[in-house]
Amino acid sequence: MAGDQPTVLLVEDEPAQREVLAYNLEAEGFRVAKAENGEEGLLLVDEEAPDVIVLDWMLPSVSGIEVCRRLKMRSETRSIPVIMLSARSEEVDRVRGLETGADDYVVKPYSVVELMARVRTQLRRTRPAAIGERLEFEDIVLDAETHRVTRSDKALKLGPTEFRLLSTLMEKPGRVWSRDQLLDRVWGRDIYVDTRTVDVHVGRLRKALCQHGGADPVRTVRGAGYALG
Ligand code: CA
Repeated sequence: MAGDQPTVLLVEDEPAQREVLAYNLEAEGFRVAKAENGEEGLLLVDEEAPDVIVLDWMLPSVSGIEVCRRLKMRSETRSIPVIMLSARSEEVDRVRGLETGADDYVVKPYSVVELMARVRTQLRRTRPAAIGERLEFEDIVLDAETHRVTRSDKALKLGPTEFRLLSTLMEKPGRVWSRDQLLDRVWGRDIYVDTRTVDVHVGRLRKALCQHGGADPVRTVRGAGYALG
């Protein structure tokens, strides 16, 4: 499976709820990592680098609130959106009052459809290309739903790897991606690919982006990696 598939980390101690949610998230095309408690959840955040976390409040030992607080304290995990699940709306008010930094709250029993919509809303912020949005950078337009890329309104021919590479770069223009980060995102963590492969595909992407003329928008950052713009 391609590494550009968004990963949702699900931290829920009730097996039935966990499985129903995992099933629905997978049906939406997401990769799902499952944790039964807060400690496991915190470990999996580092292992799986999830794009969004669905976190139950009531967990054995380390509570969801504590997990959220720890995630929001660390600079490496702070920007991962957290959707907190809680049993009653009064609890949601309390969680809000505690300023845990959760990005959204859903009251149990929730509708699965609604929760999926909330997950997509968070991903729209953090992984727009992965959920079929249209991305623009200068004169380049990438439509993640139709897989079409144009530059100055002219269609560009791109291979599938170059397309994923471009969508990753276009999600965060200006951000410098290391070769390892691009490998994780474009090829996936489970596949062994040499970092030189990244250079080869960046080269192809550059050629493709300039096939009808125009300046090369991909920047090589010495000793660091690549950035768009
Ligand atoms: Ca629970």
